[in-house]
Amino acid sequence: MGNSRREFLKKTGCTLLGLGAGFPLLRAIASEAGHGQAVAGLKQWGLVIDLKQCLRDEVRHACSAACHREHNVPDIADTDDEIKWLWTENYENAFPEKAHPYTAAIFKEKPVLVLCNHCAEPPCVRVCPTQATWKRKSDGIVMMDMHRCYGCRFCMAACPYGARSFNYRDPRPHIPEDYDSPFPTRSMGVVEKCNFCAERLREGLAPACVLAAREVPEAEEALVFGDLTDPHSEVSRLLHEKHTMVRKVSAGTGPNVFYIV
Ligand code: SF4
Repeated sequence: MGNSRREFLKKTGCTLLGLGAGFPLLRAIASEAGHGQAVAGLKQWGLVIDLKQCLRDEVRHACSAACHREHNVPDIADTDDEIKWLWTENYENAFPEKAHPYTAAIFKEKPVLVLCNHCAEPPCVRVCPTQATWKRKSDGIVMMDMHRCYGCRFCMAACPYGARSFNYRDPRPHIPEDYDSPFPTRSMGVVEKCNFCAERLREGLAPACVLAAREVPEAEEALVFGDLTDPHSEVSRLLHEKHTMVRKVSAGTGPNVFYIV
């Protein structure tokens, strides 16, 4: 077991099951825990983002770049067609319920890393007519099966966080040439979003964004990932010790991405 994998398992406080050989196809990743079948030892993965550490451009860029490289996210400049898994919103858009005319200068109009919140009560799942998206009962990840998606975009309308992107065009020609990830590419007409690096977790590895932040000097704890149901995990410790908030509490979705203020 490599050092990074051992360290990740220790910090998350988890023993990951299903360490299969070879890289799984997207459908295999998606159906790892079955469509919502309960399994023993349930977890809820969560991510804690330190807002102050992520004020540094190099931290945010490293995280987004690692995520998009890992998942072959196309680079489309036209904002109408762009595909986003991990991106930035300014503070006022990310936290409309928290922003006010006297928002602290350190955060005012500053970029905040945002992604799918892998919500406890995901409205995107409720509205999907084909069960192309569902919440895994084994670990709480809100998954996507691109093979089941027929592009109705109800999930995009239902998500209060704009966390889903639609492939209005064939994404493959827009994947940067230097990307070398085996992650399955998508096709025109399907919705996609962050999957909390389910394919990496399956191999006992930390999410790509978390690992990228760790490699930036003095940003080792900018993003911390782990099991929220484990009182000894690093994420549980941070949530107990730090003042944190989530996006759009009033939406009632129960985000599992937290921000240290
Ligand atoms: Fe669904 Fe949006 Fe919540 Fe992600 S953030 S689980 S896409 S409602």
